[in-house]
Amino acid sequence: MNKNVDPKQQEVRDLVKEFADKEIYPITRELDQMPEPRKFPRELYGKLGSAGFIGFGMPKELGGSGKSHLEYITLLEELCYHDPAVGLLTAVGELATYPIINFANDEQKKKYVPDCAAGKIVPAFVLTERNAGSDAANLGTVAVEDGDDYVINGEKIFIMHGDTADVAVLFCKIEGKAKLSAILVDTDDPGWQGRTLVNKMGMRAATTGEIIIKDVRVPKTNLLGDVGRGFRYAMITLDSARVGVAAQGLGLAQRMLDESIAYAKKRIAFGAPIAKLQAIQWMIADMATRVEATRALTYKAAQMQDREEKYSTEAAMAKLYSSETANFCCQKAMQIHAGYGYIGEFSTIEKFYRDQRVLEIYEGTSEVQRLVIAGSVIGR
Ligand SMILES: Cc1cc2nc3c(=O)[nH]c(=O)nc-3n(C[C@H](O)[C@H](O)[C@H](O)COP(=O)(O)OP(=O)(O)OC[C@H]3O[C@@H](n4cnc5c(N)ncnc54)[C@H](O)[C@@H]3O)c2cc1C
Repeated sequence: MNKNVDPKQQEVRDLVKEFADKEIYPITRELDQMPEPRKFPRELYGKLGSAGFIGFGMPKELGGSGKSHLEYITLLEELCYHDPAVGLLTAVGELATYPIINFANDEQKKKYVPDCAAGKIVPAFVLTERNAGSDAANLGTVAVEDGDDYVINGEKIFIMHGDTADVAVLFCKIEGKAKLSAILVDTDDPGWQGRTLVNKMGMRAATTGEIIIKDVRVPKTNLLGDVGRGFRYAMITLDSARVGVAAQGLGLAQRMLDESIAYAKKRIAFGAPIAKLQAIQWMIADMATRVEATRALTYKAAQMQDREEKYSTEAAMAKLYSSETANFCCQKAMQIHAGYGYIGEFSTIEKFYRDQRVLEIYEGTSEVQRLVIAGSVIGR
């Protein structure tokens, strides 16, 4: 199988492998099994920043590495091959900085992006509320104009790094305006309270938070872009993030395939390796086929992004197919490993099985991806 389609991608894979051996594998179990409430791994996040991973695709003039979308996607894929939760830490750093890079003014970009790229500050993308998940336009968080400031009140839920973030790209309504806006919020205001959500199924190294926002005062100069354009900024950001989720699923599924092949060759049952059994071969054939299809869809979406073509539909297709492939490959890997998959001390299958499940939920559920795709191919 041609996993390394070009030399630049191979370079990225080698870089990530070296980092993973040194910085990820020694602590991967510890991060997953941290006692509740989990602590955001600042030290590791800083190392991801110093290695250039968080700013990999960000512009050089803002402290990033200026790599192409395809190279960034390869980075995420490879990180998730080693540990999906560490891949997610990196992906969230990029996702939450994306609207600043693309919609902020020069002053705001200079203030936040270099430190976000370096992993010195942690950004969060703060959209979802208890009554506004898939229905993201239905937000209840409101900013009221007061002189030169906005005073903001509301509650947010399921926010990656929302318990710890230093800066938030906050989506809310400005009182009196019908459409959503986006405001940059420094989270050191005492009215901003983040709490780590507990008992998360997987992706445990990357914490998820609830945020209570009570009379948080922000200068009007912190408005991101234009009043009333927030929903559009969120949707454009999510298009890009969906290709990132596709890469997460791809790396995760590839790992499950590789683990399954290696295990099937060495596990003896009835006097021969189980890889000789057609029942096992068919599972592996299906996994390999889906992984290759996922790779094609994911790289295609990233290449379209690089060529600055419209790619919303392709991003949704890649996200949908990849997350469902990750689920499929985890199921099959568990079946092939049987008891040695189910019990986490014997293999990585149990952890990856838990890690993959959220891929079909965040950045738009699978149902929402199907809505986007159907809207595009059938017409609205
Ligand atoms: C671990 C994690 C991290 C997250 N990180 C972030 C983050 O960093 N920032 C952020 O803002 N949000 C984040 N989210 C929120 C995530 O994007 C939402 O959970 C997701 O959009 C679904 O919203 P919901 O959970 O409220 O489900 P709901 O919207 O209530 O959906 C419930 C069910 O109904 C289905 N459904 C809803 N509407 C439709 C429809 N029109 N057609 C068909 N089916 C439909 C859904 O697909 C789902 O099956 C995160 C969530 C999780 C679990």
